[in-house]
Amino acid sequence: MSGLMSARMIALPKRTPIGETALEACDLSVELGGRTILDHVDAVVRAGEVLALVGPNGAGKSTLLGALSGDIPSTGVVRLDGRSLSEWSLSEQARARAVLTQHNSLAFPFTVLEVIEMGRAPWQRTPREVEDEAAVAEAMERTETSAFGARAFPSLSGGESARVSLARVLAQRTGVLLLDEPTAALDIRHQEEVLGIARERAQAGDAVVIVLHDLNLAAAYADRIALLEHGTVTAVGSPSEVLTTERISRVYRYPVDVIEHPHTGQPLVLPSRGGKASEHTREESA
Ligand code: ADP
Ligand code: MG
Repeated sequence: MSGLMSARMIALPKRTPIGETALEACDLSVELGGRTILDHVDAVVRAGEVLALVGPNGAGKSTLLGALSGDIPSTGVVRLDGRSLSEWSLSEQARARAVLTQHNSLAFPFTVLEVIEMGRAPWQRTPREVEDEAAVAEAMERTETSAFGARAFPSLSGGESARVSLARVLAQRTGVLLLDEPTAALDIRHQEEVLGIARERAQAGDAVVIVLHDLNLAAAYADRIALLEHGTVTAVGSPSEVLTTERISRVYRYPVDVIEHPHTGQPLVLPSRGGKASEHTREESA
């Protein structure tokens, strides 16, 4: 490459067409401290879909998300837009996929606006830097964080800082979104809002991977659910394929009933709490 190459010539990522594989993990394994944390995991996320990763505490959801983002070293191959992650520079990756990790802290007291503007850093000196202001404003509006742009990030409540961190990731405007429990600290309205944003982004052609604890949010908003157990994907499919009474009771080691949502018909997972499985309980399919 010529040393005179203009900074304006930074190659912009190609967008994966809707329905095609945007991100793919093949035979991923991760060992930490002598323990196998991920054990030969395969996963596929297509442009235009929301894939939810669910599973009990410690199942390996965050590790899988970290491996998919390239932040956690793994054996096996991760392909982003068809190309192995090892062939991407870090800045190229940052223009193709955005990552919201489970624990977001910052060492310095940045303002909320500054934190969200960090999402635009990968686009500096590219033709898309003209979108900076609009991308930040849109992300703030969508996450209802516009009102506290001038506040110091560390002064926010857990739920507020979660929404600001999400805004930073949305402002990055990448075709792939990897979100680790973005709803954990949120009230019911903001939970629904955040999942609504995930759906919107998928509708617009992005591939969205989202770690969720709430199986009912996953059922309502994900196209497909991957259920993790002890570092493996034990089931993957549509919400009604994956969320069966027998499987969820077994994997979470707690009896549940799976019933139909009265309005949407989607599965609803309820702890049995000593009651008998009702006649509405979904039969094990598959
Ligand atoms: P999840 O997000 O599903 O709750 P994680 O992916 O965070 O689970 O962790 C999976 C398992 O790996 C857990 O048992 C966790 O304690 C373990 N683990 C995570 N990081 C490390 C580490 N650095 N060293 C040893 N074990 C780890
Ligand atoms: Mg986790």
